Amino acid sequence: MSPRHHPSADILASYATGTLDPGFGLVVGVHVGSCAKCRAQVSAFEATSGAALNDLPQAQLASGALAQTLARLDQIRFRPVAPDTRPLLERLPLEPKRWVAPGVWVAAVNTPRSAEDRVYVLSVGKSALTARHEHSGAEFCVVLKGAYRDELGVFAAGDFAFADSDVNHQPVVEGDQDCICLFATEGRLKPHGLIGRLAFELADV
Ligand SMILES: [Zn+2]
Repeated sequence: MSPRHHPSADILASYATGTLDPGFGLVVGVHVGSCAKCRAQVSAFEATSGAALNDLPQAQLASGALAQTLARLDQIRFRPVAPDTRPLLERLPLEPKRWVAPGVWVAAVNTPRSAEDRVYVLSVGKSALTARHEHSGAEFCVVLKGAYRDELGVFAAGDFAFADSDVNHQPVVEGDQDCICLFATEGRLKPHGLIGRLAFELADV
């Protein structure tokens, strides 16, 4: 089924021009990989950026530059690389899982990020509880498996969710399988209640 929740046009434009931080780009990339509608929009943004290059003033190349470049290309031996067909969860460079509550684990994704940001996979079992929380900054999320529900609706595999400091929510697992999501967050989450604070501290999110 096609995803029903998509990134905004601004987020897709930043993704197309490569200006998102790596963790945030990773989350958008997973959604774009499963969403034909957003792939088409990203291609359109890329084409617009490419067309803008045509408007730049022409520069003079050194004589022989083209011949030298072609000669260098001839020296490179390309070896075909087999595509990695493993499920995304197996391909992500995950740190070891940390169990933070019954049925709930978190694994950090080993990707470049600023010290205050977090990039991680969260798995919540079907009967596990999550803590109501607020956000310090932007949060990008894509559902990898299963589904959850919050005040904004139901989010299933491939769906993208955006939250910021205006959002205060308590997602609940929907359906009968574990819900696994990939997150990139700017700043730390702010859980309500002592149990939530302890769990979030343990999870380092
Ligand atoms: Zn989409």
